[in-house]
Amino acid sequence: MNCPFCQPDIQTSVFARSEHFLALYNRAPVFPGHSLVIPIKHVHSLLELSEEETTEMMLFSRKVTTLLLKVFKAQAFDWSVQDGEAAGQSMAHLHLHIVPRYPGDRADPGDWYPEVQQNYNEILDSALRPQIKSREMEGIVKKLREQAGEEGLY
Ligand SMILES: [Zn+2]
Repeated sequence: MNCPFCQPDIQTSVFARSEHFLALYNRAPVFPGHSLVIPIKHVHSLLELSEEETTEMMLFSRKVTTLLLKVFKAQAFDWSVQDGEAAGQSMAHLHLHIVPRYPGDRADPGDWYPEVQQNYNEILDSALRPQIKSREMEGIVKKLREQAGEEGLY
């Protein structure tokens, strides 16, 4: 399978986990703290999750969001899921973008969305956006894991 979220090296980006979900740091973040929540199993759509999994995903994503807001000192956030090809999904593995936001980070707060759309195809290996250096990435993931560990999420 070609899915980047199903490759073993995804583990280097993971900073929090629940029974069926992982949180990982985006290697080409649109904003500082831009992370993804994915199911561990290869699931295409949010609509394929059981009710229990949907609940788990929502509660886990909330905890991850709280953690990101704390670590990145943000007070606001966007969540985004592109579900289905017509919605812009081109990677067939469900993922929720969690994007911490900062006052005045864009001229209009809605300006972020096209950037995430552009980011979407390139989540793991962005040719369009400079990727953060692997050492910087390691530092961020380490810090997030420590915080997640304190909260029983890693
Ligand atoms: Zn997958």
